Amino acid sequence: GWRSPIADHELAHLPADRTPPREDDPKAVRRVGVIGGGTAGYLTALALRAKMPWLEVTLVESSKIPVIGVGEATTPPLMAFLHHYIGIDPHDFLERVQPTWKLGILFDWGPFKDGIMGPFDWGSNSIGVLGSMATRNDPNAYTLQSLFMMANKVPVFQVDDKIVSMMSDIPFAYHLENMRLVNYLSQFVTERGIKHIDAEIEDVTLSGEDWVESLRLKGGGELNFDLYIDCTGFRSVLLGKALQTPYISFADSLYTDTAITAYVDQSEAIEPYTRATTMDAGWCWKIPVPDEDHIGYVHSAAHIDPDSAMDEIKRLYPSAREFKTVRFRTGRHEKIWRGNVIAMGNSYAFVEPLESSSLLMLAFSIMSLIPLLPNSWAEPTAREVFNKLTAERWDGMRWFLAIHYKYNQRRDTEFWRQVRDNADVSGIQPLLDVYAGGAPLHLRDPLTRRFVRATAPTFYELDGVDCMLLGQGYPAKLVTTNEPLEAWQRRKDAADALVARSMTQRQALEAFHKHPELTESLVYGRHSWVTGYGEQRWLQQ
Ligand code: FAD
Repeated sequence: GWRSPIADHELAHLPADRTPPREDDPKAVRRVGVIGGGTAGYLTALALRAKMPWLEVTLVESSKIPVIGVGEATTPPLMAFLHHYIGIDPHDFLERVQPTWKLGILFDWGPFKDGIMGPFDWGSNSIGVLGSMATRNDPNAYTLQSLFMMANKVPVFQVDDKIVSMMSDIPFAYHLENMRLVNYLSQFVTERGIKHIDAEIEDVTLSGEDWVESLRLKGGGELNFDLYIDCTGFRSVLLGKALQTPYISFADSLYTDTAITAYVDQSEAIEPYTRATTMDAGWCWKIPVPDEDHIGYVHSAAHIDPDSAMDEIKRLYPSAREFKTVRFRTGRHEKIWRGNVIAMGNSYAFVEPLESSSLLMLAFSIMSLIPLLPNSWAEPTAREVFNKLTAERWDGMRWFLAIHYKYNQRRDTEFWRQVRDNADVSGIQPLLDVYAGGAPLHLRDPLTRRFVRATAPTFYELDGVDCMLLGQGYPAKLVTTNEPLEAWQRRKDAADALVARSMTQRQALEAFHKHPELTESLVYGRHSWVTGYGEQRWLQQ
């Protein structure tokens, strides 16, 4: 069902078997400084130790500069990244980080009453989008997972006295409380042989325009490494500030720049999805963690003042409390790798969280980087390949997010009018034109699909574009099918019967806590999608 969200042409970088540098090489890359201790810093340091254990990795972070503390909705590949790539034990993780499950994103968005289902099996079309359009006049009954989402259930069943789980058949993702995740990851630092220094970088000494010689610490002292990974978040201390790498803003396409976060009482069910609700000047996420729901109103500060934004939140979620404001900027640096500095996480790029893409981008960047890292600065490097690959991925995400805004007709406020009139979607326009002539794109002929993909990068593939355009009622001719509607109805009835017997997320999580063998076969089972991702079959598709 799930297709790789990376376009085919980006798949050339499978991890090679890495070997240590030569002992006598004076330009060997051995000592790596990972600067920053947010999700980006910890995941990068752990991945480097897991895949290149000869590296001396030092993580430098300042306890005086807090981590961003948001970032809780993820995507399926992150499960394989955590449990297979960096080797985090899934049982321990389940107990201590207490993730909840996400089958996709439910968008309160567009013209249809039920909004838009964005399930992770959106590429499978397992029930059939054309049948859904014909019978319900919306695309939402198109996959098995979308039916589970609409019913607020998960694919786990009680059959006689046994628990039967289909979670290893249909990709899903974790919702993770950010602080719990960062604290959990930090425990592995010494355990996995990473040196940890609590210090603030005050200044960076360069030699030449893009080579870092050393870092000067506040209060005295100096550090130097062969390679610097900048994980300093929006401060971008090395790539941005010290190297003055040009920044390409996405603000013409994506107008939001602020989030107000809060906690709310949990809805009766632990909803098995991230909810994204259209608001007056943006949208609001709702993410269930075990005892409460976390929300965040992502908006444009130019279009609503803080008090009105909080009032709007309270109208939607009266129990909202502990408000916090997070400012962000949307865009990327021109390059992710310059000289001996590579940026990971927000220090290179950021787009707002409407498609939960940051941690996914981070995992992809780490996994693409490790096979490309040089053993020695005397060798030619893959800098420009990595720069181009990463820039294309982020640009694809920019255009994909832009169509979520430009064509959302749900509210008529100043913000939405301006977005609809002016948001720049030029990078994806060629694809929109082909879509208008025959939708959905994933049911078009293979050659057309390939041409469209090559012309307009979208990151989440054509399936994602189809989902958002169909769900927003973007004007298009539907492709035709010879399949009789009764065949669609039979699939739908069978799926409905399955969904009717399934559990709520709360019941299923309890079952997983009680029966560790369910987690074992989910993460390591031979036929599980997580194992497939772990072996990186998804990168090779
Ligand atoms: P940070 O967490 O900011 O960490 C920066 C680190 O650098 C800190 O440890 C700090 O101490 C250190 N540092 C900074 N300057 C210095 C210095 N001078 N000296 C020493 N140390 C320094 N992602 C998702 O995948 N899903 C989501 O749902 C999601 N939601 C989000 C919502 C919002 C509103 C925002 C803004 C982001 C969201 N993200 C989401 C993104 C996600 O939070 C981040 O991408 C992720 O946490 C990575 O952050 P980071 O490690 O790059 O930076």
